Amino acid sequence: MKGVFQIAKFFGIPVQVHWSFVLIFGWVFYVGSTESLDWWSMGSYALLVLALFGCVVLHEFGHALTARRYGVETRDIILSPIGGVARLDRLPEKPWQEFMVAIAGPLVNIGISLVLSIVPLLASGESRRQFFNYFYALFYPNSNAFSYDISPVYEFLFLLIIVNIVLAVFNLLPAFPMDGGRVLRALLSIRLGRLRATRIASYIGQGFAVLLAGYGIWSMSPITALIGVFVFMTAASEYRMVKLDGLLGHYTVGDVTRRQFTRLYTNDPIPLAIEQYRQGMEKDFLVFDEWQNLIGVLPEKELVEAAKDGAAGELSVGQLANTRYEALLASDSLKAIFPRMQWKSYQLLPVFEQGRLIGVVDNNSVNSFIQLKQKVRWRK
Ligand SMILES: [Zn+2]
Repeated sequence: MKGVFQIAKFFGIPVQVHWSFVLIFGWVFYVGSTESLDWWSMGSYALLVLALFGCVVLHEFGHALTARRYGVETRDIILSPIGGVARLDRLPEKPWQEFMVAIAGPLVNIGISLVLSIVPLLASGESRRQFFNYFYALFYPNSNAFSYDISPVYEFLFLLIIVNIVLAVFNLLPAFPMDGGRVLRALLSIRLGRLRATRIASYIGQGFAVLLAGYGIWSMSPITALIGVFVFMTAASEYRMVKLDGLLGHYTVGDVTRRQFTRLYTNDPIPLAIEQYRQGMEKDFLVFDEWQNLIGVLPEKELVEAAKDGAAGELSVGQLANTRYEALLASDSLKAIFPRMQWKSYQLLPVFEQGRLIGVVDNNSVNSFIQLKQKVRWRK
């Protein structure tokens, strides 16, 4: 994803932050200065925001590590001002697995708020009183019955508890991409199958999104309105994705394998490759050594770059070949391979059958294959 940078890696899963994340601190500063807060309070608000996003990260790891138990890996966890997302490699197979993965995130936040409540509840009678009064005052802001004096550390702690409860509740709204949407879909899937369940869940999600955006406009809260728009779009794309998944499940790599392809050799000069590129339909090429061993892929991008530089004449194919590639099996399901090709931006991969190289899979032809099949299906 563009505009993100990695800040940490836990359990082998990179945690990335979108650049717009820094806007939050600008916002804290802006609100702080319009309310003429001193630096100390502004600092503690900034700290609260950091703690909040720490909880969001833990929430996402709740999803990621539960998914791992079912054999689903997580590419990365991305934080942006409107929240976090754990990008799973694929959907868990079974509805109850999806249910567990989805519910794990909000459960983490409920767990955090319970753990944070232990200290004030057990420390002393006075701290217990403060704890209950604080929450009472939240629900009855005009009540003066409970005047209390509270230490800044406790106030910070209480706010963090509230924030975690809000996170859990908000995420359980039954709308994609909120976890509640996935919980709903998982429950519906048990009876209706994933495709119909997703259609229903995404309609419900879009309904919620419209309400949310409407509320955002009515209350003049641009962030709420924006989240509404985001939820609306995600609901639609979730349905498209599941539909695509269902389609891909019917085909194997063998179905999209191109059996004729040009072999280039490590010692071939680059101008020869450029000539092949210009004359034929092929954009990317497999590269072999002189003993016919496959050593890599020569990507179109490298070739075009070399042609532009004008230094192509001195280079050989072996120098530009990319040796990082994956070998596909003709029997692999397209459902497992296609998202992986997109994610790793592979343009061309070799296909093997019974240990023999039988052809290539080309990202462009897979795309047109899918488009064609989708058209055919809609007509039925
Ligand atoms: Zn979540």
